[in-house]
Amino acid sequence: MAQPALVVEDLHKKFGNLEVLKGVSVTAHTGDVIAMIGSSGSGKSTLLRCINLLETPDSGRVTVNGELIRMRPTKGGHAVPEDWKQVDRIRSSLGMVFQSFNLWSHMTILENVIEAPIHVLKVPKREAIERAEQLLAKVGIADKRNHYPSHLSGGQQQRAAIARALAMEPKVMLFDEPTSALDPELVGEVLRVMRQLAEEGRTMLVVTHEMGFAREVANKVIFLHQGRIEEEGNPKEVFANPSSDRLRQFLQSTQ
Ligand code: ADP
Ligand code: MG
Repeated sequence: MAQPALVVEDLHKKFGNLEVLKGVSVTAHTGDVIAMIGSSGSGKSTLLRCINLLETPDSGRVTVNGELIRMRPTKGGHAVPEDWKQVDRIRSSLGMVFQSFNLWSHMTILENVIEAPIHVLKVPKREAIERAEQLLAKVGIADKRNHYPSHLSGGQQQRAAIARALAMEPKVMLFDEPTSALDPELVGEVLRVMRQLAEEGRTMLVVTHEMGFAREVANKVIFLHQGRIEEEGNPKEVFANPSSDRLRQFLQSTQ
């Protein structure tokens, strides 16, 4: 089988005495759409943040497209990246979409999308603009290119954030509750874009409370409970017949 797009092995992370990740392993093959579910505080965001080194894991290994992020242990029992240049490079191959959009408010939508391709990937400006226009059209907001984020609805801002992530041609897309901050009537337009990305064969790891999306779009679901994977498998099978009582309770609480 081809080399996986993302391999996370035995990740551990503490904040002070609070053990948030207690040995989490996840493998995403190219084209996998993995939905990660779990109650608030179970460690979902921390896991995504450790994958792209927004947080440094205490131990464990993260490999993106065959490249291991090199870490070395410190005296305090933590780990630090050996080479921040490597981290920057790998990070730019991981498209991250947050709950709160995180667009740059002082830049237009187009400027938001071309910023990193020009400054990080060194794409010529004209080329970056052309590509950005295609991506904005793809997510359905081509007409908003010269608007500032505050003039867009939440759903439009999140679609702009997705276009911005796509502009870096990421190997893996990481989504952290991308629809949780949206008014209910705007959730569908963002999920539609995400479904389209899934159908194009993009590799995605999606933290979500949208069980319909998890069931219909993901090919794998992972249930995180108190920093451990409590259950994982094919979403249709897992949802129809959860083997863990905790997952059963969680699924009941989301209905
Ligand atoms: P989830 O995304 O599943 O809701 P998080 O990964 O955000 O969970 O948080 C897991 C636990 O770690 C929570 O108890 C949270 O308060 C704690 N936590 C997260 N980030 C930090 C941090 N930077 N400092 C201290 N505690 C944190
Ligand atoms: Mg979270």
